[in-house]
Amino acid sequence: MPTDHLMEPAVYHAGVEAEDALHLAAENFFTPEEREPRECSLKSKEDFERVYHEWLPLRNFEWFAKEIVRRAPNQLVRLHGRCVLCDKEQDFLIQMQDGDVNWLEQVVCPDCQGNARVRFWVGRLAQEGRDGKSLVLERGPNERNWLFHLLGERVNLYWQRTAGQSNKENGKLNTEHLPYGDASLRMVASYDFLETLEDPIPALKEAARVLQPGGKLLLHTLFDANALQTVDRTVRRDGEPFSESGLWYRDPDIQERELSLVWKVFGWDVLDTIRACGFREACCRTHYSINYGYMGYLPLWIEAIR
Ligand SMILES: [Zn+2]
Repeated sequence: MPTDHLMEPAVYHAGVEAEDALHLAAENFFTPEEREPRECSLKSKEDFERVYHEWLPLRNFEWFAKEIVRRAPNQLVRLHGRCVLCDKEQDFLIQMQDGDVNWLEQVVCPDCQGNARVRFWVGRLAQEGRDGKSLVLERGPNERNWLFHLLGERVNLYWQRTAGQSNKENGKLNTEHLPYGDASLRMVASYDFLETLEDPIPALKEAARVLQPGGKLLLHTLFDANALQTVDRTVRRDGEPFSESGLWYRDPDIQERELSLVWKVFGWDVLDTIRACGFREACCRTHYSINYGYMGYLPLWIEAIR
């Protein structure tokens, strides 16, 4: 397990004795099958709406859990589950944030400090990247440490920083001209990156070029599951970026000079765009699991097969 750069566990234990922890027992609410991971492909807005309603009963547990957390503000609330990174049973810590629980960010493993987002995403990339060379554009040091730990030399990790290109600590990566041969990689993955490209098409074509047949593209990006069409957040006006609703930036490390401008919020038409760039299949995927502490509003990522 990588220990460098991990967040200090004391942050989560500050001032709270272990005896004060409340345990949430999901087994009182759901059968073992209902608590297991569920995952599915979504090809349209209708698919998304259907799955949202089908999985809604599971979220009753979230509302119950949120109420417990709200009523026990001075205590740690723990959910027993399984951490895919530690590969063992853990008591996830549930934290309030602005009077609410952000299930993606605030269900944290006490050992590896992975929140639900990191545990799922890194676990998935490690699984998909086992069988060959991969390229991953990653945004956080915890994620990078884990991916390097789990995949070692099989993964080339780049840390995205500015729109249109990513910086490695010792060099730059141009996502429109990747330094890999045709059909040389098993996986290309990025987190919160595609939306920072003014034109994502050259990068998508380049990803298709370097992937082997059957290789996978995994993208977490700004995606509106209620929108059929992609919306431009930013356009060029007299050569300069302009947005009527105010410019959107996103960046992992809160360094103002390295903020990434958001150009697009993708809708379902992005799946056609991806296929037109050389991919055999493209879909959105979503998942949920009480046992693994993957909760919250259906998280979506895009998966495409070369
Ligand atoms: Zn863990």
